[in-house]
Amino acid sequence: MDKQYIMALDQGTTSSRCILFDRSGQILAAASREFSQIYPQEGWVEHDPMEIWSSQVNVAQEALLKARISATDIAAIGITNQRETTIVWDANTGEPIYNAIVWQCRRTSEYCDKLKAEGHGEIFRERTGLILDAYFSGTKIRWILDNVPGAREKARHGDLRFGTVETWLIWKLTGGAVYVTDYTNASRTLLFNIHTLQWDSDLMKILDIPGTILPQAVPCAQVYGTTKAQIFGAEIPIAGAAGDQQASLFGQACFSEGDVKHTYGTGGFMLMNTGLTPAKSGSGLLTTIAWGSDSRVSYALEGSVFVAGAAIQWLRDEVGLLASSPESEAMALAAGSNGGVYMVPAFVGLGAPHWDSYARGTILGLTRGSNKNHIVRAALESIAYQSYELLQAMRADAGREITSVKVDGGAAANDFLMQFQADILGIPVRRAAQLETTALGAAYLAGLAVGYWNDIDDITANWQLGRAFSPAMKAPERERLLANWGRAVNCARGFVEEK
Ligand code: ADP
Repeated sequence: MDKQYIMALDQGTTSSRCILFDRSGQILAAASREFSQIYPQEGWVEHDPMEIWSSQVNVAQEALLKARISATDIAAIGITNQRETTIVWDANTGEPIYNAIVWQCRRTSEYCDKLKAEGHGEIFRERTGLILDAYFSGTKIRWILDNVPGAREKARHGDLRFGTVETWLIWKLTGGAVYVTDYTNASRTLLFNIHTLQWDSDLMKILDIPGTILPQAVPCAQVYGTTKAQIFGAEIPIAGAAGDQQASLFGQACFSEGDVKHTYGTGGFMLMNTGLTPAKSGSGLLTTIAWGSDSRVSYALEGSVFVAGAAIQWLRDEVGLLASSPESEAMALAAGSNGGVYMVPAFVGLGAPHWDSYARGTILGLTRGSNKNHIVRAALESIAYQSYELLQAMRADAGREITSVKVDGGAAANDFLMQFQADILGIPVRRAAQLETTALGAAYLAGLAVGYWNDIDDITANWQLGRAFSPAMKAPERERLLANWGRAVNCARGFVEEK
């Protein structure tokens, strides 16, 4: 019988998930499991690679059980993952030599400052499209090599493997037979030249990372290998991989130059497809690989907001202004207006386009008449203003108009936020019917590789609008709000003193 489904493994920062999709992009079954967050000291974040692996396999088995199907019904597996998180393991024993260092971990910040002071920023920017920051894998790999006893010696003998999470999962799923990374994940390491699609020996030299520990970089849609039969009861081809934000760009069918998607999760991530040429940013956005085959690579501009939905989470969990995130919608509507209150959720500084690590969160414009609804509304509005700033930066860097934005992520369910976003952007916001765009993107990549879908036209045909929000606010009001937001940001900036 024809194989009916695609399995997407979505290995995220807080949970491992598995979703089974059918040809129309509908969900047949899903399973999810949270795993431990390890905070060894302030600013450090780790995961246990074995727990990443076991939770991911467990949810995949659970999804098959829930759907009452077997491995033989699965045409292919696609993988998407938390990006930049760094795992190094022993090639002979398969044991990680250290915990996974998570993208959020700041332990290499000072080392990055030192590299910048030595004038290395430009070469990394030029070749990788990234800024020299602790966020990316490169300096995390170096930290492991320098701090785990015997690691450098083992690396010299070719006994160590480095991988981002998709590399680790593919290696484990194939019983150590396949050691690859896809172009999108490679493009987040600070070691990969996004123009030549090769590991860059100059950058490896600067970071003191030997080539012996790097996987082979491969296209995003290709059969890499098959799962060991004992894992799911039959072999399944592993046929696609992409980092989470790139997968969601793909799942949103943003295939044309100038297409933009924005994801409202804990943070906010905006990506624009810039086509076959990498666009250089003058506004602090990243240039990255959107996806790539052997012959063609598409590039993207990327901007992130560190705190988006997390602003609501903070009001809920730390301040106790509301019991659940969805309540924020009714509260914002009840407020009627922001009442002059602005919140800048710069809890960890500000990302693009400000890049100010000394900014901190503020609530401004409070009067005796301000109430909790105004504060909740200010938090939701802040999500929209920050997205506006990213979009402005993209417009400038790409040198083109943007006519609409496709949105997804948990907080995109908030109709007030979506309408306010359209009002502030002055362009339509189009919410996908299927909000699981990250897993869907991974499924599409794998499905294309095995001919489950013929081409991107099949995928474009699957994309369905959930709801569109059209701008309705008058220009003077929009300008007034944005001017106030700009002043609020200025107040938040540079608040903490340099060490
Ligand atoms: P992630 O994938 O980053 O964990 P999700 O896409 O699941 O995040 O989104 C969760 C975030 O969205 C949380 O920060 C939560 O506070 C926020 N959120 C969820 N639902 C709503 C809502 N209806 N209104 C506003 N924020 C919401």
